[in-house]
Amino acid sequence: MNPDHGETPPLGVADALSLEAIEHWLREEDAARLEALWHAADETRREYVGDEVHLRGLCEISNVCVRGCTYCGIRAPNRGVQRYRMKADDVVACARQAREFGYGTIVLQGGEDYGMATEWVAHVVRRIKAETALAVTLSLGERPAADLAAWREAGADRYLLRFETSDEALYRHIHPDLPGRVSDRLADLRTLQRLGYEAGTGIMVGVPGQTYASVAADVDLFRGLDMDMIGIGPYLPHPATPLGAEFAARVASDDWPPDQVPNTELTTCKVVALTRLVRPDANLPATTALALVDKEAGRAHGLRRGANVVMPNLTPPEYREKYEIYPEKAAVHETAEAINAGIQALLDDLGRTIGKGAGGRRRTPGSGA
Ligand code: SAH
Repeated sequence: MNPDHGETPPLGVADALSLEAIEHWLREEDAARLEALWHAADETRREYVGDEVHLRGLCEISNVCVRGCTYCGIRAPNRGVQRYRMKADDVVACARQAREFGYGTIVLQGGEDYGMATEWVAHVVRRIKAETALAVTLSLGERPAADLAAWREAGADRYLLRFETSDEALYRHIHPDLPGRVSDRLADLRTLQRLGYEAGTGIMVGVPGQTYASVAADVDLFRGLDMDMIGIGPYLPHPATPLGAEFAARVASDDWPPDQVPNTELTTCKVVALTRLVRPDANLPATTALALVDKEAGRAHGLRRGANVVMPNLTPPEYREKYEIYPEKAAVHETAEAINAGIQALLDDLGRTIGKGAGGRRRTPGSGA
């Protein structure tokens, strides 16, 4: 299982970790050696972004989507989804709840839904900014630059748009109907930065066809991107999607492409830890997908292996169950109160404190920022 794949390369931050070393560590399976990786990531996290964990309340405002991303359960062609758009009042109520829980940020996420008019989103952002001191993060897909500009103007602070994979062929395989390539998504991220957003990106780990070398290249790309946030989660197969069907067929026949990266908790943690080393000052969430793939320890491991952000779900339950980007999302039957209490208990346990304020990027001199 664990062939000796050569001498363990040294760990280091920023440019000190080579692409080869990143790939080596992604393949590392020896628990004792991995302890060194976890330790280095945890120390780097503490040194650069401290012990505060920033909580960002997540509100899934629409599951309507024009796209056909083959991994995603709310892709347009999935007829089994009951579609919804939240009312503005309900979104603002979610933001109020975030404030009451003491969170610094509300994240408004949804499908790429043009029925959510530019002006409607701007109106919701303005209402939240007028009523609360929360930072507002948007995650609404590849909207045109004019929309992004209007929302920034309305007061939105951050935007999340993962590039998902930097492997061009894989990117096209999982985004068959997107007009662009990986480079177009990177251009979108630059547009966001130019508009004055804090920009976030990220990847899924363990997509069928994703190799160790390609994930190492993703981590190397993070190093050069100067992103404020980087979200990393395991790929979770959704049965009602083309990629989910491909995954199931591969499991059934045990037929994997050469060098396939597993979609496990452990591999995802390695990617988080290595990303902390190459981007010491970034905000890295212990993602919901990571918490789901290992319900016992996923979130705690994420936070002890480089992550400094958690995104508790505040979407009202009647919508949350319909926002099924992957099956059986963590805590889908839990109330926002229960999710919140669980996270507070976990942070106490880990000896970490809850971040005060909006929890924006803390730029370090010499970080290239
Ligand atoms: N429509 C927005 C928000 C998508 S949901 C957008 O496209 O940016 C946010 C993230 O969830 C995606 O970027 C993707 O990385 C992740 N995601 C979607 N489906 C998933 C799946 N089946 N397994 C794991 N992560 C998934």
